[in-house]
This record gives sequence, structure tokens and C-alpha cells, in this order.
Amino acid sequence: MFELQNILRENIKNLIPYSSARNEFNGEASVFLDANENSFGSPLTENYNRYPDPLQTAIKQKLSLIKGVPVKNIFLGNGSDEAIDILFRAFCRPGMDNVITVPPTYGMYEVSANINDVENRKVKLTAAFQLDMERIAETIDENTRIIFICSPNNPTGNSIDRNDIQTLLANFNGIVVVDEAYINYSRQKTFIQELTEFANLVVLQTLSKAWGLAGLRVGMAFASEEIIEVFNKVNAPYNISQASQQLVLRALENIDQVNEWIKQTVQERENLTLQLSLLDFVQNIYPSDANFLLVKTSDPVFIYQALVKQGIIVRNRSTVELCEGCLRITVGTPEENEILIHAMKSLNWR
Ligand code: PMP
Repeated sequence: MFELQNILRENIKNLIPYSSARNEFNGEASVFLDANENSFGSPLTENYNRYPDPLQTAIKQKLSLIKGVPVKNIFLGNGSDEAIDILFRAFCRPGMDNVITVPPTYGMYEVSANINDVENRKVKLTAAFQLDMERIAETIDENTRIIFICSPNNPTGNSIDRNDIQTLLANFNGIVVVDEAYINYSRQKTFIQELTEFANLVVLQTLSKAWGLAGLRVGMAFASEEIIEVFNKVNAPYNISQASQQLVLRALENIDQVNEWIKQTVQERENLTLQLSLLDFVQNIYPSDANFLLVKTSDPVFIYQALVKQGIIVRNRSTVELCEGCLRITVGTPEENEILIHAMKSLNWR
């Protein structure tokens, strides 16, 4: 049985969190002399002299309506990368505990593990880029705290089998993170609705992809109230700036625009797939549920460099295990995709 208290580090259990001025008083008042801010103002037309809402309640209320999740089940981080780091700091004892990642996958799980001196046990995906359930089961031991699943997966683009994720959630006594950074482009449905069923589920999403706000650095974690309380205890005070909070609130009004971009991106993904498949050095285009394509070519380094010379940057993933020969190409606007295809067609093939 999953029991949060069994995996929460002792120092976090006993932690008295920092109590900010805005934690201690957040009502209406006319004279705020409690936070050592500059009372005169800020050298900008907008006023940024006051600390922002540490819990970003206004944003969470809007997200709650959009996502169908209560405010108490939402954490906002400085990118979802902050949520990943907090998971390590709260649940993994350095030099003792371990996590499982399933490469090829998003690189920050491993970097965060290394920063926090936590062993990363890698269980390679199968050739079909799915979970190797048997090897995961063999790899789990009494110190395994977190399993990171990215679905749709970066860099392979596919969604991970839902039943396999459910099997892990039902049987693993640690936390299962389902990173849904690319969920808006997927045919699969989100795991957010499973939060009521699984106390050990943490779903990560982000405003950096479909919402078009990578520059604001705002990521979301959805989890049980108990886990969200841990996030709020461990995070840096005021982790989302006032500027970001204001801009996110405005952006969340434009859901129609975002949905339109998602539709266009999916259309362009299919179009790009078709165009790329006509090139003779393209050997495979893996089916994608994301806003990028993993493309196997006969000479990735040559193609990568030839594109760079024309001012077009894709990601060379050819040194990543199971991605030999592969470039990862983000779906651009129709104009950008046309430029890419034109450049690829013109490559002086050897
Ligand atoms: N998860 C995945 C799978 C990603 O690909 C990325 C960004 N490339 C992130 C998380 C990080 O997102 P954020 O900008 O919210 O930190």
C-alpha cells in the first residue's frame, strides 16, 4: 500500500517551512509595512514593488476550471523542472534512495537525480518505445521512491501504454510521475482524472508548450492534497513572479487561440510527416502524439550540419540510445515547415 509518510524524508516531515509576510497576512489593507518592500514604488509603469501571491490563487482558480481539478490539487512551479527537483528533495534521501527513469526520455529527471545525489536506475524502453514492465518490476527495491514516465515521451513522441502506467500506479509503493508536457497534442487522454483513484500519482503539465508561454517559466503539478502540501512546504517563497502571474492570467483567457494552434500543429505534424517521408534519406518517421517528430535518417550529422548552414536548427538525437540516426524536429508554422522541407530537398545527397 502506498503511504506518503513512508517515503517522505524525515527532515521534510519535521520541516517548519518559511513563513513569508504574504503567508501571514494576505487580506485587504491600505498600509503594508510587513515585507520590507520599497513602499515608494518601482521604476516601471506597472508596480512590481510588492511581493506576489505566494500560492498564485487567482491562476489556480482559473486552471481549476480549465482542468477540472480542485485548487488544492494544483502546484505551480518555475517551469515543471522546479516540480521535478522538488520531488527529489522531498522524497529521495541523497546517497540512499533511487528513482527509475525509462530512457530515451526527458533529460532533466537524470540531471535532477545527479544534482540531488540520488541513484538513477535506467530501464530502457522496448524497441517499440514502450515500458519494459518486467525489468521495471525487477529494478524496484525498498529504496525506490519515484518512477518517471513521460507521455507523450520526449524525444520519441509516442504515448506510453495507459494500462502499463495504471499497473505501476496500482502496484508501486512510491510516486509515479506522469509528465504530460505534450498532452495537448496527444490522442490519449490525460491522467489528471485518475488523481482521485491513485494517491501516488503526480501529473506534470506545463504552459511552455501548447500554451506558448515557455518564456514565462510556469509549470504545473497535479497531485493529492497531501503531496501538494509537501510541494508548498519545500518550494522557494514567491516562486512565480508577479509579472509571470499577471501575464499567465491574461493568457488563460485566450483558450480559443491555444486550441486553434493545437489543431494547426497537429495538422502540420501530419503534413510534415508526409513531406519528410518522400525524402530518400529519411528511413523512418516515428508516429508522434507531440509537437515534434523523431526522424531516422541515413546520415543525421550531415543533415544536421547542412541545415545549420541554412539557419535551420533541429535537434540531433543520434547519439541517444534507441535513437541512432535520429533528428528531433519541432513542428513549426506552415512557413517554417516549408523552409525546412525545401532545405532538405536541396541537400546535396551523397
Ligand atoms: N517535461 C518534458 C517532457 C519536456 O520536454 C520539458 C521541456 N522540454 C519539460 C518537462 C520542461 O518544461 P518547463 O518549461 O515547464 O520546465
